[in-house]
Amino acid sequence: MSDAMRNNRKKRIRFLKRLILSVLAAAILLPTAVSIVLGVRVHFLRRELSQMQKALEAQEAAMTAQTAGDAAQTPDIEAQGELTEEDSIRTWESEAKPAAGTYSGLHKVYLTFDDGPSIYTDEILDILKEYDVKATFFVVGKDKAAYEGAYRRILEEGHTLGMHSYSHAYQEIYSSKEAFIRDVNELSDYLHEVTGKYPDIYRFPGGSSNRVSTVDIEELKEYLTEIGVTWYDWNVSSGDATGHLSKEKIIQNCTTGLENYGEAVILLHDAADKKSTVEALPEMIETILEMEDTVIVPITADTIPIQHKAANS
Ligand SMILES: [Zn+2]
Repeated sequence: MSDAMRNNRKKRIRFLKRLILSVLAAAILLPTAVSIVLGVRVHFLRRELSQMQKALEAQEAAMTAQTAGDAAQTPDIEAQGELTEEDSIRTWESEAKPAAGTYSGLHKVYLTFDDGPSIYTDEILDILKEYDVKATFFVVGKDKAAYEGAYRRILEEGHTLGMHSYSHAYQEIYSSKEAFIRDVNELSDYLHEVTGKYPDIYRFPGGSSNRVSTVDIEELKEYLTEIGVTWYDWNVSSGDATGHLSKEKIIQNCTTGLENYGEAVILLHDAADKKSTVEALPEMIETILEMEDTVIVPITADTIPIQHKAANS
């Protein structure tokens, strides 16, 4: 073998060695690099997902409110219901406020929360617990495992669990008596399944004085009475259904003139876009508890129903 040939062979072997080493290195490094890139992507996607979940919650709440508005062609139907408020049943008429000094005796204040459970239910329950105050929750159907605990906790901590429709979709619930009955039963069965108890109080979405229902609301009231369910409206509104009120305004709406009521049923909301209601709660409760001869109690079978005068009467 000549020197030239030997050199050539050495070169080829060196080249092959390098080739093998490069392939090996690539075989190790490439998957590692891909893993790192994918790992980073997963991290960002997870973050995006949790942000989207939060946005979805908020949107869900906004949509519920909007469904109400669309059906009524006015943006806030619950607030509209509040316009028709008077008196044992006590029926309430348009913005009826009892005159000053008309009531002496024990004042009963009922805090009622519509539309829950939501991301704020636990926080609301924590505050109520802190002040040892019982309230009433008119809930809707959220068949997410995450909310099952909330329905149970409401009952376990001595509050009253009432119904506020399964879907809260006005155009559906109020489209026919049959649709209304279906919705009531769906929620009643669902709450029984989750809590082991059938609820026996109801609050109409938009109040019984809503002008959305295409069915005569009297027929729907009759059905509830038939199945032993009592319905409650409200005579004091926090106004929190209307856009985004400040905490201070909510407290003012809930506490002003309260001393003139024998029974004050206050309308509040437990919903993802009602943060200021949660923030208002501690000071609101403190203010009410400081009032003379005033107690905060949950709605029970003994509570005199506060019901709105029918819209067309
Ligand atoms: Zn509602």
